[in-house]
Amino acid sequence: MLSNEEWRMIMINYLFAKQGCPLPPFGTGVFYEYITAANGVFIRSKRNCLEAMIPVMDMPYHPIRGLEELEPYVRLDTKVPAKLVEWALEQSNLALPNEVLFWLLPLSEGWRVHKPTQIATPGSVIPADKHDPIGAQAVIDLHSHGHARPFFSPDDDRDETGFRIYAVLGRIEETVWMQARVGIFGNTWPIDPALYFDLPENVFGYWLNHEELTMEEPYETQS
Ligand SMILES: [Zn+2]
Repeated sequence: MLSNEEWRMIMINYLFAKQGCPLPPFGTGVFYEYITAANGVFIRSKRNCLEAMIPVMDMPYHPIRGLEELEPYVRLDTKVPAKLVEWALEQSNLALPNEVLFWLLPLSEGWRVHKPTQIATPGSVIPADKHDPIGAQAVIDLHSHGHARPFFSPDDDRDETGFRIYAVLGRIEETVWMQARVGIFGNTWPIDPALYFDLPENVFGYWLNHEELTMEEPYETQS
């Protein structure tokens, strides 16, 4: 019988981005891969309709000689249609002041949205069954923040530990905004929601690139 440590070794690949050598395809049966590159350490993963590689540790000013620089990417096969975001917003409005959780599941064409049985308050939402198999199939988690701003809270950081896109709808005064990030097993990277969701006219994408977030992190001070 394999120990936890041995299981970890099987499910995680450790690679170097060697100069002049393209990265190999993502490993079969692997959860994720750590890749040491000239400009830092990256984590990469791939599942149905989503693949991403994001930095775990940036070293922009001290590149490692002999290794390639890597660029983060987040690729989703199909954009989420505006109708689905509209429906989620309607449901969120009906549930005010409470939060609402939605799971988005890829279909052969397009998306299906599922609102699981949930325990919601104005400051939190969790699925009633944490082991719901539909939740495991979700490629996008979307939750609303009731009347609050669209930020990722410490609770969100604690709960959002899978590999998927996480998005949150919130309000800044009367305007509805969406903020999004990709999560790879506890590591996160901010993404522009408009690249992955067709946003209806009444929903604005809130996106700060990585440098701006590092400078200010305006949402960290909100709750
Ligand atoms: Zn939240």
